[in-house]
Amino acid sequence: MARNFRSEFPALETASGDAWHYLDTAATAQKAQPVLDAITRAYGPDYATVHRGVYERSANMTLAYEAARKRVANFLGAASEKEVIFTSGATDSINLVAESWGPANIGKDDRIMLSQLEHHSNIVPWQMLAERVGAHIDVAPLTADGQIDLDWIEAHLTERHKLVALAHVSNVLGSLLDAKRAAELAHFHGAKLLLDGCQAAPRVPVNVQELGCDFYVFSGHKIYGPTGIGALWAPYAILDAMPPWKGGGSMIDRVSFDGTTYAPPPGRFEAGTPHIAGVVGLDAAIQYVQSIGLDRISDHENATLAMAREALSGINSVRVFGPDKSMGILSFAVGDVHPHDVATILDEGGVAIRAGHHCAQPLMDYLKVPATARASFGIYSNADDVAALVTGIERVRKIFG
Ligand code: PMP
Repeated sequence: MARNFRSEFPALETASGDAWHYLDTAATAQKAQPVLDAITRAYGPDYATVHRGVYERSANMTLAYEAARKRVANFLGAASEKEVIFTSGATDSINLVAESWGPANIGKDDRIMLSQLEHHSNIVPWQMLAERVGAHIDVAPLTADGQIDLDWIEAHLTERHKLVALAHVSNVLGSLLDAKRAAELAHFHGAKLLLDGCQAAPRVPVNVQELGCDFYVFSGHKIYGPTGIGALWAPYAILDAMPPWKGGGSMIDRVSFDGTTYAPPPGRFEAGTPHIAGVVGLDAAIQYVQSIGLDRISDHENATLAMAREALSGINSVRVFGPDKSMGILSFAVGDVHPHDVATILDEGGVAIRAGHHCAQPLMDYLKVPATARASFGIYSNADDVAALVTGIERVRKIFG
């Protein structure tokens, strides 16, 4: 019998027993039971601090914490677990790069290449850095079908560009970047490539060495893990040359009032008591995802999304944004109805979608809309969810004539 993924996610069961059609996985994914169990154990019978205690419980927790780092390294295809920094999420990871690597490598009149579809967390930290050091930002446009225009990037990259920072998968359009080509283009001009993997890590197999990128970031909560935890990957040589960003306990070698020296990576970038239970939960989430296989998750989401795309394309007045083959994410509009009204009416039918600018206001400006409605899929999404979405949209059309 086919595995029923849905039954592995307690949040998808409502108290009344009615089905809940959760189509907001791109905002945050629901948590599988093994992840919840791991977090409960980490805060319960296994709880102790890491890296400091000489007693057995702390030593065991340290082993679990460092095993999680190894798991993330394996998940991303990294050469070593020393290349993985735990952060509070993708936003924190990008800010770490912008605050530490940024001023050491980007100066006055240097340039940073972004794209029109970036999430605010892959825009604002670079704007803050550019303002601080006197650098400039270039914004790559999109192709007609909503992909980052790499031809434009090829034509506009110069020796002054030190960084190209792009979404691996767009959180609004679901467009998948040709990351290998982006890396080649960046490196041809001596620039580094940062990939925002928030939406890719849960649905695309990632191998940072094959992609050839220089920084990769993602958030645990989008990959069926806990909030407040995520990771930054970079080759060890890059991390080793980066100054610390946050100061405090754990990130030091020796502290004195005459001067302080710092620990090597990854410790240098993990000041303070870390999110221990978050790391353990992330480890469980990655184990869960790996036990299914990202290819299988991808195939499942693509099939569900194709069903939704097909159904929506048959409804008069529905406009779909982005490429025909988007990854797990489908943004749309129903005539002139405000996306918030669409989402409210869908909610009345037990369908949870996101409506708004999706933290991508420059993309909304580009699309010339104030907001979009967005349905996004996960391993637990199924044909019933698509049917409920379509029924809800038909209801919107009826109500708004
Ligand atoms: N980038 C993308 C593409 C995202 O979808 C998100 C989350 N919506 C982020 C960055 C920021 O992630 P977080 O809020 O978990 O730090």
